[in-house]
Amino acid sequence: MQEYSEKLEDIYDEKLGRHLVASLSIEPGETLLEEQPLLVAPHWECDRLKCAQCLQESYVICRRCQVYPLCMDCSEHDAFECEFFASGAGSGIGKDLLIKNYGICALLKLLLLLEQPDQRAQCQILLERPVKLEDYRNEDGVWQEHEEQVVRPIMDSGLAEALPDQQLTSDALHAHCIRIDCSAYEVTARDGDTLKGVYVRGANLPHSCVPNTVVALDEQFNLKLYAAVPLESGQVIFTSYANPLMGTSQRQHQLRMTRHMECACVRCLDPTELGTHMSSMKCRDCSDGYAVCDLRGTGNWRCLDVSCGAVIPAADVHELLAEVGGALVDAKGELSVYESLLAQNKQLLHPNHFLLLDIKQNIASILRAAALMNSLNDPCKKLLARRVELCGDLLPICRAVIPGISKLYAIALFEYLLSFVELTELQFSEGDVDKKGYAAQLKRAQSVAKEALDLLQFEPENSAEGFLTERIAMELERIESDLMKYGKH
Ligand SMILES: [Zn+2]
Ligand SMILES: [Zn+2]
Ligand SMILES: [Zn+2]
Ligand SMILES: [Zn+2]
Repeated sequence: MQEYSEKLEDIYDEKLGRHLVASLSIEPGETLLEEQPLLVAPHWECDRLKCAQCLQESYVICRRCQVYPLCMDCSEHDAFECEFFASGAGSGIGKDLLIKNYGICALLKLLLLLEQPDQRAQCQILLERPVKLEDYRNEDGVWQEHEEQVVRPIMDSGLAEALPDQQLTSDALHAHCIRIDCSAYEVTARDGDTLKGVYVRGANLPHSCVPNTVVALDEQFNLKLYAAVPLESGQVIFTSYANPLMGTSQRQHQLRMTRHMECACVRCLDPTELGTHMSSMKCRDCSDGYAVCDLRGTGNWRCLDVSCGAVIPAADVHELLAEVGGALVDAKGELSVYESLLAQNKQLLHPNHFLLLDIKQNIASILRAAALMNSLNDPCKKLLARRVELCGDLLPICRAVIPGISKLYAIALFEYLLSFVELTELQFSEGDVDKKGYAAQLKRAQSVAKEALDLLQFEPENSAEGFLTERIAMELERIESDLMKYGKH
C-alpha cells in the first residue's frame, strides 16, 4: 500500500530520475506519503535464524514447508512463501539454504514477491530503478559481500530453475541486491536488532544532507513521511541517508559507499557547514582563527581570518582525523581515555568539530549509565553538571544541522532535560539553591520539555519516538507539579 498526499506530483528529470515535488504549499507536519514496506528482512551478513513471521530469534522450522524458521509464538508465516516450498516447487533447493545463509532472506523474499501477480506492480517500481552494474563490479566490500552471502548461495541452490520466468542470472541477482540496499531504511525489530526495511517510494527519494522531510517508522514498520519545514509549490521532496552529526567529507564518503552518489546540498557546498564549523580546525598561526576547507580549490584548510590566511594541508587534517578516529575505536568505553582525547584535541579542532562531539557523546553516555547504576556516589553533583554541560553543547549543533521539525534535536533536548532535572533536584535537596532559584530552573526544564514534545507531535504513537513522547510528557507533569508547589511567591 502506498498513499500520497494530493499536494505532491510525481515527475521525472535527467538529474534526479523519478522524484516528487510539492504542487501546492505544504505546512510542517503535513503527511506526504504513507507506505507499508515491500519487505523487511535481516541484513545480508545476518548469521542467526530469525522467525519468518515476526523476525525475532527463531527456534524451530516451519513444519509445513520445512524451510522457513519460526519462533515459539508464531505458527505460520507468509502463505505464498510457505506454499511455494511446501508444494515442492522449490524441491531442488537444499533444505539448509536458509539455515546456512539466512542473509539471503531479503532477496529470496523479493524473488517470491515477483512470482505473485498482485505484488508485481509494487516490485516493478523497485525494478525500474536503474542500476549500472559496472559502477559496482570489482568493488571490494559491497560486491564481494553480495556475491558470497547472497548471489552464490542462491545460484548454487537451484532456485533459478524453480523460477524460470524470471530468467535469473548472477548479474540480475546482483542488481536486485543493489536495488534492495538503495531502497532500504534501517528499522528496529522488537528485540532491538536492526533490520532492513525496503520501501519502494519512501526510501527512493533524492538525498540532501539538509532534508525537508522527516521519516517516521512505527512498530509494524509502516513508514510515514511528513514535511519538516514549510514547502512551496515546485520544491523537490528530499530525505537524508547520511548521519547529520558527521563532517562533510565523512558524510560524502558514507553516501558514496552506500548510495553511489555525490551530494551537492547547501551544507556540502558550505565550508562552515551551515555555520556549525563541524569540520573546522583551529588555526595553527593565529590564536583565535579557525581554518575551513577550501572546497572548490586546493582542498586544503585555510584560516578564515584574512589578515592571517594560514594554510593547513589537507593531508595533515586527514591524518589527524584518522588518528583520532582510531583512538576512539580503541577507547572502548574507558572514561579517562575519552577525557584525555577531548583535552588533547580541543587544542587542534573547532569546539563544534564532529570528532569532539563524538567524544563528548561517549562521555555523556558513560556518565548516564553510571548514574543509572548509581555507581558514582559522592562526586555526583560534579559529574551531573558535566553531563548537563556536554548535552548542552550538542543542542545548538543539532538545531542547526536539521532545520524545522527534527527528531535529532528532540532527542538531544530529551537527554539534556534528564540530566538538567536530575542536577537541579539534587542542588535543591542539598540546599545549594533556594525555592526561588529552584522554581526558575524548573521553568527552564518546562520549556525544554515542551519544545521536545512539540517536535515529536507528528510521530506515530506506536513507535520509539511515540514512547519517548510519553516519557517526556511524564517528566513534564512532574516538573509542573513541582512548579505548582515551589513556583508561587
Ligand atoms: Zn515469530
Ligand atoms: Zn512454512
Ligand atoms: Zn550534502
Ligand atoms: Zn589564522
